[in-house]
Amino acid sequence: MAWDFETDPEYQEKLDWAAEFVREKVEPLDYLFPHQQFVPLDETRRRIVDPLKEEVRAQGLWATHLGPELGGQGYGQLKLALLNEILGRSLWASIVFGCQAPDTGNAEIIAHYGTPEQKERYLQPLLDGEIFSSYSMTEPHAGADPTLFRTRAVRDGDEWVINGWKYFSSNAKTASFLIVMAVTNPDVSPYQGMSMFLVPTDTPGVEIVRNVGLFGEPLNEGFHSLIHYDDVRVPASALLGGEGQAFAIAQTRLGGGRIHHAMRTIGLAQKALDMMCERVLSRETAGGPLADKQFVQGYIADSYAQLMQFRLFVLYTAWEIDKYNDYKRVRKDIATAKVVMPTVLHDIAWRAMQVHGALGTTNEMPLFGMIHGAAVMGLADGPTEVHKVTVARQVLRDYRPAPGMWPSEWIPEKIEAAKRKYAHLLELEVGNL
Ligand SMILES: Cc1cc2nc3c(=O)[nH]c(=O)nc-3n(C[C@H](O)[C@H](O)[C@H](O)COP(=O)(O)OP(=O)(O)OC[C@H]3O[C@@H](n4cnc5c(N)ncnc54)[C@H](O)[C@@H]3O)c2cc1C
Repeated sequence: MAWDFETDPEYQEKLDWAAEFVREKVEPLDYLFPHQQFVPLDETRRRIVDPLKEEVRAQGLWATHLGPELGGQGYGQLKLALLNEILGRSLWASIVFGCQAPDTGNAEIIAHYGTPEQKERYLQPLLDGEIFSSYSMTEPHAGADPTLFRTRAVRDGDEWVINGWKYFSSNAKTASFLIVMAVTNPDVSPYQGMSMFLVPTDTPGVEIVRNVGLFGEPLNEGFHSLIHYDDVRVPASALLGGEGQAFAIAQTRLGGGRIHHAMRTIGLAQKALDMMCERVLSRETAGGPLADKQFVQGYIADSYAQLMQFRLFVLYTAWEIDKYNDYKRVRKDIATAKVVMPTVLHDIAWRAMQVHGALGTTNEMPLFGMIHGAAVMGLADGPTEVHKVTVARQVLRDYRPAPGMWPSEWIPEKIEAAKRKYAHLLELEVGNL
């Protein structure tokens, strides 16, 4: 009977190493180089970051997100989940471990759909951690519904010419290339009429119009670009996968990306719970520590319960992905994790902020940043509402309407059925039932 919650001792040793390494050596980078994770390394940062990457490689923990058939280490999603929840505590950790979003998802689709030339040009340097990439799908007028996208790619001899606008292309300003989703055949359904292109960022006509910042960042100095593709010419070989395959490719990419976010969110929510517990044991008020107040005990218990449910569900989903090796088959549970993730982080970080009093709301504590992060999670890779629709549809697939006028659990009918089933025995016992 294979049903086990234990990590094999050899991998547990690696996890223990990773936990200490992240705490001692990587978390300091968050304070030394904030918002610099996706900026190519200058000499100072390279002096510090490259040796850390080497330590990770020596442990065999570098870029563990790709399976062996795709040129990775093949640890699988469950092992990756256990690692990612450690990495989730630090913004720099996934960079140092070579598994940062959105590059992981981008690497995954190039590994799946790329030609040998595309893999050599884009995948290898991405896996080596030497370049960044950007995924350019959302448009200013449409995000949640990709069937409304208008960016157009038209074949012209041996080239494609791309025209249109894209929005929230994260890290475009530091990326070496963009993966652009564009309409290639407007006469068929959008599900068959869009394609993906690999576009070097320095291609003439790629114009970054604004670098949108998140809350708290200076205006126009953020990492989420508004891009105008203005007669951008790429060779026919820039097509990723087949013509018309964009939706299938997007599903491959987003399935992995969403569950990896969920894995890292476990670590971040655990960090908020750790902060909450430390604070309530440290702060005295109204005759004793905060930890003795029942309201506060409620915060701790609710947070622990939410986190454990979420963690077990994410680990289970990761196990399912490994078992079936098919994101589509696990779509319901990936979408469920995506739906739950922002609420879990929001609720735990909010309670942690509350018990820190005024200090919790300041820029001297990371708590409000976590709450903002939870809001972002409810949108990036698709809004919560859309994922709820997916979950509901998938759940309903396993059900059928009631066969008659009454629900199948209608008690009067159940009693009659039970009597019919055991009539021969009931008559023997009581005779007149
Ligand atoms: C930090 C961050 C990074 C991002 N990075 C990228 C990136 O790298 N590349 C990229 O292409 N995109 C990226 N995005 C964009 C993201 O994918 C979109 O924001 C998302 O798909 C929603 O699109 P939208 O913002 O246009 O919202 P809209 O489509 O306008 O939706 C707005 C709201 O309408 C409601 N809604 C929408 N559809 C439905 C529905 N079917 N049923 C019920 N309610 C609905 C929801 O409340 C939703 O939040 C990023 C977003 C964020 C916040």
